[in-house]
Amino acid sequence: MSEITWNDLLMMLNKYDKEDIVEIEKAYKFAKLLHEGQYRQSGEPYIVHPLNVAYILAEMNADKDTICAGLLHDTLEDTKIINEDIVTLFNPTVTKLVEGVTKISKLNCSKQAQSMANTRKIITGITEDVRIMIIKLADRLHNMRTLQYKSSFKQKEIAMETMDIFVPLAYYIGAYRMKSELEDISLQYLYPDKYKYIQEVQLKIKENSKQCLEEMLYTIDSILIDKEISHHIKMRIKNIYGIYKKLESGYNLSDIHDLLALKVMVNDISNCYQTLGLVHSKYHPLNDKFKDYIFNPKTNMYRSIHTTVFGENNRLVQTQIRTFDMDQIASFGLSAYWSINKGNAREVMQEELKNKYQFFKSLIEINHVFADNQEFVRQVKSELFADKIYVYTTKGDIIELPKGSTAIDFAYKIHSDIGNTMVGVMVNDKDVSVDYILQNKDRVRIITDDLSCGPKQEWIDKVKTTKAKRKIKEFRRK
Ligand code: MN
Repeated sequence: MSEITWNDLLMMLNKYDKEDIVEIEKAYKFAKLLHEGQYRQSGEPYIVHPLNVAYILAEMNADKDTICAGLLHDTLEDTKIINEDIVTLFNPTVTKLVEGVTKISKLNCSKQAQSMANTRKIITGITEDVRIMIIKLADRLHNMRTLQYKSSFKQKEIAMETMDIFVPLAYYIGAYRMKSELEDISLQYLYPDKYKYIQEVQLKIKENSKQCLEEMLYTIDSILIDKEISHHIKMRIKNIYGIYKKLESGYNLSDIHDLLALKVMVNDISNCYQTLGLVHSKYHPLNDKFKDYIFNPKTNMYRSIHTTVFGENNRLVQTQIRTFDMDQIASFGLSAYWSINKGNAREVMQEELKNKYQFFKSLIEINHVFADNQEFVRQVKSELFADKIYVYTTKGDIIELPKGSTAIDFAYKIHSDIGNTMVGVMVNDKDVSVDYILQNKDRVRIITDDLSCGPKQEWIDKVKTTKAKRKIKEFRRK
């Protein structure tokens, strides 16, 4: 891939207002001047990096302030200017965003402690402004794309950190497109042989199934045209890391039912179900692989219908049916609001994050309880970034919990009063003990009694989540 130039960015900005482009050009020129004489390991002038970060952001239709901050993101760290310079030349928002992505450098402590402090800063930046994390993700993506210039030790170290921190963050805000690219590049450096092998496998699958997918696409396309449902259909193949993970967990290639997918995008929800009916009347569905994420969104707000059908030559093909807006969110997550809600995207993003994204409340809780950076990072990794399970409330809402959580964790996640008055629990209509370890897809009913004496001391050792631990301790203290 040849590197992006200012003209490429300018072309990408053609939908932006004139004044916005003027401001962005000012940021570009300023950053270029400040980084003058600095070079990347590739030998290119340093400005190439912020330019690429800005380009990635412009591809996501980021607002003007975010793109300016993308261009200036390394200036506080690597050049002579200070915050006030950015306030004077630009505005407080751009300054806040640049500060948000700048590493803490003046700490008088070990390298390890400093790195923990920075990790915490990246993760908690989202509580102030989700754009900070999106810039940081764009920064990481470009650094990963140019990782070949680093030493092989650095490559592995950076790839590991990407998998540890940035991939889960991209997942949590629903930025799947970024997440899959970050995963694939990381795998390439962590396990080059496996990466190469699966890359070949993926290529073979593509060749072998091209015709089958094209035929299906054509058939569904004609059916929808016939019914006058306006639509767009795309083919998709699982990313290399996705295939790797399935194979590692013991699946055969032929068992991976979503290796191949057709994405059908339509205008509204009722068209989604009409399309579903039409697809099923043409291709037999595989019954146990049907998922309705439209009315049961994933905890990162991904919405779509998934149905795996017997396609041409009885090949299993997953069909994903969703609206155009849902598709934007499926690819870009929260940052899709830059395209959907032009005027007040930032407010919408922050509100959605606060009210709908389950990880957000847990993150605030952990941030509140753990003062020590190392403990904070450890807890985030074990509670949020480790494997998760998804269980149902009696109403059918999906609740996300770290793997190993008990019914007590569930009760406190719903509400602290429910945890504090819990006397029993039924899972899938059967009585179990309160410290029952929840499994994926369990249906959980908490039995409460207002006259209960409250949580028992030993429950503290039977919970995994920070909120449950804190609430039990608080109650016991009283
Ligand atoms: Mn950077």
